[in-house]
Amino acid sequence: MTIQKSESLFQRAQQSIPGGVNSPVRAFKSVGGTPLFISKAKGAYLYDADGNRYIDYIASWGPMILGHAYEPVIKAIQEQAVYSTSYGAPTELEIRMAELIKSMVPNVDLIRMVSSGTEACMSAIRVARGYTGRNKIIKFEGCYHGHADSFLVKAGSGVATFNIQTVPGVTAGVAADTLTCAYNDLAAVEKLVNENKQQIAAIIIEPVAGNMGCILPESGYLAGLRKICDAEGILFIFDEVMTGFRLAKGGAQERLGIDADLVTYGKVIGAGMPVGAFGGKKHIMEVVSPLGNVYQAGTLSGNPIAMIAGYTLLTVLNEQPQLLQEIEEKTIYLKDGLDTILAATGIPYVINQLGSMISIHFSDRPVTDFATAAAANNQLFNKFFHAMLKRGVYLPPSAFESWFLNNALTQEDLDVTLQATKESLEEVL
Ligand SMILES: *Cc1c(COP(=O)(O)O)cnc(C)c1O
Repeated sequence: MTIQKSESLFQRAQQSIPGGVNSPVRAFKSVGGTPLFISKAKGAYLYDADGNRYIDYIASWGPMILGHAYEPVIKAIQEQAVYSTSYGAPTELEIRMAELIKSMVPNVDLIRMVSSGTEACMSAIRVARGYTGRNKIIKFEGCYHGHADSFLVKAGSGVATFNIQTVPGVTAGVAADTLTCAYNDLAAVEKLVNENKQQIAAIIIEPVAGNMGCILPESGYLAGLRKICDAEGILFIFDEVMTGFRLAKGGAQERLGIDADLVTYGKVIGAGMPVGAFGGKKHIMEVVSPLGNVYQAGTLSGNPIAMIAGYTLLTVLNEQPQLLQEIEEKTIYLKDGLDTILAATGIPYVINQLGSMISIHFSDRPVTDFATAAAANNQLFNKFFHAMLKRGVYLPPSAFESWFLNNALTQEDLDVTLQATKESLEEVL
């Protein structure tokens, strides 16, 4: 397999784009080597500039849940595009999108569309502060909520991958309003809340974390947080940018049976177009401008091309919930296969999985938070990543990312992946 074209594109890209990429994790910096430049994708496969084919376990970090270039979505975009790509005025399409989301997520009364997950989380925090009149937030080490200043404190995903301790450009004042503690540690949250009485506006969490690998909430943890929030007048925000419309039609809220006050979406909601959203209960969302004074806006928010893409995908997921079940079954098949192969090697490992999110950590103890994810043998993961890539399997280029399965994956793709895993482990161990 040659990647000459990707190599020369990467050289060229670095002359005009910082690090050659428009989002850091794409650069392969932590795993080393040259990032592949993609020229097209269809179903479960990515094709790079040199024409190599890869089985894709990133799915554009989630949105391609039914596979790339999913025909109903492509057709809908094509049909909409001829009516212009943006108006800067409201459309019926936005109402249909909001109504559809409300029907899928029962505790969302009002929802505002934005253009990214970052914007959704940033806006949700502003709403929480505006609603409660308090300044501080609690987030969890290793959770990623986008790149807004207040979230870049002990953040997951790329920030963890590149081991950035403090992000230059985030002021001490902003950082001081972001309190952090370990995921799955309820006592630590209780302590923070007691030390900051009447000062905490919101607790924001990935209900299933996907930005330090896949990490599951322990039994009773989210319910415990819910209780603390209720007792202290704190808003509980579920960042469902990864889990929304993936773990269930109604996301992690439905899957785990916990109601959040505010919820943020991204990724799947836009079917690969730039879309995010934040929503929640009426009495809270009513503070959002122009109803209330919490200002929030976007020239391209609710963009018609983005809306029709997301609406088309969500409609399919809403009408055929068994599709999510199918992807989950594929994920469990993969998990069982990986388990058998890894067990045979004798190397310590942990596989965390829920729904169609899964990850491997080369760890000798359970991976339940950022510290245990970071303590795993991530050097080995990096070698494993390259061994898999060479065999045509494209995993996320960091141990601090969940893998995302898509429903275009066939039985054969999964078996090819398992065979590649076997060979890769033989190569790197
Ligand atoms: C990807 C992600 C975001 C940020 O979304 P962008 O669209 O990249 O801005 C926020 N929260 C979570 C949980 C994410 O995985």
